Amino acid sequence: MNFDLTPEQDQLRDAVRALGKRYGHRYFVEKAKAGEHTTELWNEAGRLGYLGVNIPTEYGGGGGGITELAIVCEELAAAGCPLLLLVVSPAIAATVINRHGTDEQRKRHLPGLADGSQKIVFAITEPEAGSNFHRLGTVARRDGDDWVLSGRKCYISGVDDAGHVLVVTRTEDAVSGKLKPALFIVPTDAAGLTWSKLDMEILSPENQFLLYLDDVRLPGDALVGESVEAGLPALFSGLNPERITVAAMGAGTGRYAIERASEYTATRAVWGGRTIGSHQGVSHPLAHAAVQVELARLMIQKASLLYDAGRDLEAGVAGNMAKYAAGEAAALAVDTAVQVHGGAGMTTEYGVATLLGAVRAGRIAPVSREMILNFVAQHVLGQDKSY
Ligand SMILES: Cc1cc2nc3c(=O)[nH]c(=O)nc-3n(C[C@H](O)[C@H](O)[C@H](O)COP(=O)(O)OP(=O)(O)OC[C@H]3O[C@@H](n4cnc5c(N)ncnc54)[C@H](O)[C@@H]3O)c2cc1C
Repeated sequence: MNFDLTPEQDQLRDAVRALGKRYGHRYFVEKAKAGEHTTELWNEAGRLGYLGVNIPTEYGGGGGGITELAIVCEELAAAGCPLLLLVVSPAIAATVINRHGTDEQRKRHLPGLADGSQKIVFAITEPEAGSNFHRLGTVARRDGDDWVLSGRKCYISGVDDAGHVLVVTRTEDAVSGKLKPALFIVPTDAAGLTWSKLDMEILSPENQFLLYLDDVRLPGDALVGESVEAGLPALFSGLNPERITVAAMGAGTGRYAIERASEYTATRAVWGGRTIGSHQGVSHPLAHAAVQVELARLMIQKASLLYDAGRDLEAGVAGNMAKYAAGEAAALAVDTAVQVHGGAGMTTEYGVATLLGAVRAGRIAPVSREMILNFVAQHVLGQDKSY
C-alpha cells in the first residue's frame, strides 16, 4: 500500500497550487459579484495543460487519469477557486466522448477540451424527473438522417459560457419504461435551444440555467457513439469522474476554509494575551473538521486509484462514498471557519462565508446525500430498494 503521489503528480499539485494562489479567493469572489466568469484563470490553466490532464496525449492532453484531474480540482479549490466547470467539461464530457464517442467526435472535441478553448457542459436534470432519471422526459426523434430534440432541463451549470452542451435524452421509441438514454453533443447556438438564468443563493462565477429544447434539429453525428446503444454505458461512464472530481473540489474547499480559520485563530487574541485558538472550544471544532476533510481525501484517493485501474464497479462505491464524505466535510469546515472568525466570519473580506452557499449545494448536487445513502444501503448493505 502506498499513499504517496508519484513525482509527476507531486509536481502537478505544486504547480496548480501556485497557479491557484496567484488568482486566489478574492479574484473568484470579485468575478462572481461582477457577474463575470473566471476566464483568465481557466485560460491559463488550459494553456498550462491542467484542464486536459486526463485526456489522452494523442488529443493534446496529459495522458493521465482522474487522479490527476482530482488533484487539479482540489488544488484550485484549496486556493479559494472551486471551478464547477472542471466537473462538467473535462471530467464528464471529456470522459464520455473519449470512452464512447466516435473517432470523429474525439478528434473534433478532445483537443479543445484539453487546452480549455472548448467547454462542454452537461444537462441531465429535469424539473419533473428530479433525482429519478428513469423519468426523463426530453425526447430525441429521428427525422431522416437528423435528430430532433424536445424537452426541458434545469440547474444546468455554465451553459452561457460553453460552446456545447451534452444533453441526456430518451429516444422516441422508448418514451416510457426503463430509461434507454441517448446522449447528444448540442452546440449552444443551435436553433431552438434557449436558456434563462436561475437566481441561486450561491456566490459563484458559474451560474445555473433552465434549458429549453424546442425541436432542436441536429445532424446524425451529434449522437454520442455509433448508435443509441452507446447511450447507457456513456451516461454511466460520466458518473464516477463526476463524483470523484466534485468530491475533490469539496475537500479542497474544506482545506481552504480550515487554513483561513487556523491563521485567524492563531493570531486573534481577545482575553489577555491568549489567542482564541488556545481555547479548545475554538480549536477542537477546527481539528474535528480537519479530520473529516482528511478522511474524505483518503476516500477520494482510493476512488481515483480504482477508477484509473479500470475497476469501475468498486470505483462507483468508493466515488459515491468520497462524494458523500467530502460534501459533509466541506460544509462542516466552512461553517466552522465562519464560527471561529466571529463577526469577521460573515464579512466578505475574510473570505469564508462567501463559500457557504456553494458547500451547502455540494450536499445536494450533483447527487444528493440521500441518493448516495440509498446507493450504499442497496449495493453495499444489500437492502431492498425503497423507491
Ligand atoms: C449548484 C447546482 C449545480 C447543478 N448543476 C447541474 C448541471 O450542471 N447539470 C445537471 O444536469 N444538473 C445540475 N444540478 C442539478 C442537481 O444534480 C440536482 O439538483 C440533484 O440531482 C437533485 O435533484 P432535484 O433537485 O430534482 O431534487 P429532487 O429529486 O426533487 O429531491 C429533493 C430532495 O428529496 C430527496 N429524495 C428524492 N428522492 C429520494 C429517495 N428515493 N430517497 C431519499 N431521498 C430522496 C433528495 O435527496 C433531495 O434532498 C445542479 C444543482 C445545483 C444545486
